[in-house]
Amino acid sequence: MSQAATDADLAEVVAQIELHGGQAFVSRGVTRTIVGVVGTEAVLETIDVSGMPGVADTKRITAPYKLVSAENHARRSTVRVGGVPIGPDTFTLIAGPCAVESPEQTVEAAGLAKRAGATLLRGGAYKPRSSPYAFQGLALDGLRILSEVRDEVGLPVVTEVLDVKDVDDVAEHADMLQIGTRNMQNFGLLQAVGAVGKPVLLKRGLSATYEEWLMAAEYIAQRGNLDIVLCERGIRSYEPAIRNLFDVSAVPMMQQLSHLPVIVDPSHAAGRRDLVVPLARAGIAAGADGVMVDVHPHPEQALVDGAQALSGAALDELAQVVITLPAMLGRTSAAHLAG
Ligand code: PEP
Ligand code: MN
Repeated sequence: MSQAATDADLAEVVAQIELHGGQAFVSRGVTRTIVGVVGTEAVLETIDVSGMPGVADTKRITAPYKLVSAENHARRSTVRVGGVPIGPDTFTLIAGPCAVESPEQTVEAAGLAKRAGATLLRGGAYKPRSSPYAFQGLALDGLRILSEVRDEVGLPVVTEVLDVKDVDDVAEHADMLQIGTRNMQNFGLLQAVGAVGKPVLLKRGLSATYEEWLMAAEYIAQRGNLDIVLCERGIRSYEPAIRNLFDVSAVPMMQQLSHLPVIVDPSHAAGRRDLVVPLARAGIAAGADGVMVDVHPHPEQALVDGAQALSGAALDELAQVVITLPAMLGRTSAAHLAG
């Protein structure tokens, strides 16, 4: 649809598609609204909406992921999270504790994140732990802490949702909902976050192919939400020295296949602090639209993922990288835009 299209124009287009037996999927992003049409060859041949008011263009998309495909997108999309852009012209740093542990720890971590140049705060209130005996997160109390810290520090919040039953609570408190690696193919959860009207950070599954990852994004888009950011966080390999294998190729590949922004999470890829900054550099050099890292005021006391959390010198080093490298590649830092 064109920028000037009205709701009535949109309704007419949907009605026309349905009249001919097609299915219409309306997906709204910040900068565009797309109507996906699905039907048999015979049905599609009878549908012609190209001359209708509000229609900018009609295109046939051959990729199995229709709404998130790069086909027929002259430019990659920008997603805005509480006003902060993530997209092809900017560079966005997201930082914060792996898990929200207390108000003090979260506000301290947010301060560290902001000083390092972050414009978005991450932090888990619901944690997907491999062991049922490990700290599972503060749940609703954690969401409340994140909300308070957002107001105090001024950074919009990204946080993970694990369960369909929590989607409304998380959407109420967060500016962006994270779908973690272990839930990349939890299709009911993808549909639920697709319907809730907040941007979504979709992490790559532990051993997901590019197509499986994009089909997961398509589940979200198909429910009406095009504000999706893809996050490469490493995939399973046979090497025990690193937690996961950071797939640098995923950055340019996903940017070729999809119009969605692509960021990297070197913390969860490496699982060890000494590799986080080198991998962040590699991701930025490969063209990532942003980086997400774990920071903690006292990593040795962290309840989750302390071994990979940045603080002190390593965080200062990341801050330097974030100032220099994206600018060399022609990107404006989101921190700079925020003033
Ligand atoms: C996280 O970001 O806190 C997390 C659990 O990441 P992943 O889903 O990539 O393991
Ligand atoms: Mn973690």
